[in-house]
Amino acid sequence: MPEVKDVVIIGGGVAGLSAGLYTVRAKLKTLLIERTVLGGQIINTDAIENYPGFPNGITGVELVTACEEQASKFGLEYTFGEVTSIDAQNRPMVVRTADEEFLARSIIITAGGDHVHLGVPGEKELEARGVSYCATCDGNFFTGQDVVVVGGGDSAVEEGVYLTRMCKSVTLVHRRDSLRATKLLQERARSNPKMQFIWDTVVDSINGKDKVESVSVHNVKTQEKRDLPAGGVFVYVGFKPNTQPYDGLL
Ligand code: NAP
Repeated sequence: MPEVKDVVIIGGGVAGLSAGLYTVRAKLKTLLIERTVLGGQIINTDAIENYPGFPNGITGVELVTACEEQASKFGLEYTFGEVTSIDAQNRPMVVRTADEEFLARSIIITAGGDHVHLGVPGEKELEARGVSYCATCDGNFFTGQDVVVVGGGDSAVEEGVYLTRMCKSVTLVHRRDSLRATKLLQERARSNPKMQFIWDTVVDSINGKDKVESVSVHNVKTQEKRDLPAGGVFVYVGFKPNTQPYDGLL
């Protein structure tokens, strides 16, 4: 019979590590379960400038390493595996992965989220062959090429600016005529000579035989269609929380 933990945390991103820091410091025996590597989405972020306490910014990896070290110092335990189900009807509650069961008096779900996909023809077929959701992971593959970024939020604009470091040009395609992104990021993007913007425009398809060659778009106001030659497409049209495995519990 496994030991009953006071707290089981599902998900080892910054939220899970922060929760763990608080619970272990409150002397609650805590186990954090992570399905891949600690850190979550933030390890794919190049520079974090808006986390308080780091006036010169910090990389995602540096931040996560420090969070892990801090939580471990106070006794946070970790295990790796994908949670497949939770039995919250009985006490203690049971958290199951494919191989193990964990008993918990309480559970904190900090399971992060996944990128929203465009759902257009070619997106799935050309994923990892020019279609990407992570500029910091894949940007270097597109050195010297023209790329398209889709979306108008912080992710699209921030990652678009990042891509100008290695790409020949970055064309941001947005469905409206104004960006949702923070003003500071907007200013940075607008003043970058490698960035251009196509407004009021949505993607119809991503095209290419073995890899991305172009992106077909149309203007939602004029209905004008055009093909944008591009070696890569970075999709940043939102983020949805990973709550599916916990439906009915929340
Ligand atoms: P987001 O803020 O939800 O922005 C998604 C963007 O995609 C919006 O501009 C939206 O257009 C557009 N969009 C949505 N569905 C679309 C579709 N089907 N076709 C075309 N465009 C579509 O998502 P995010 O940029 O990933 O950011 C998620 C959260 O993380 C936000 O709270 C953001 O502030 C935060 N974040 C912060 C930082 C930072 O602080 N540096 C960096 C990255 C992310 P509309 O504008 O018309 O809705």
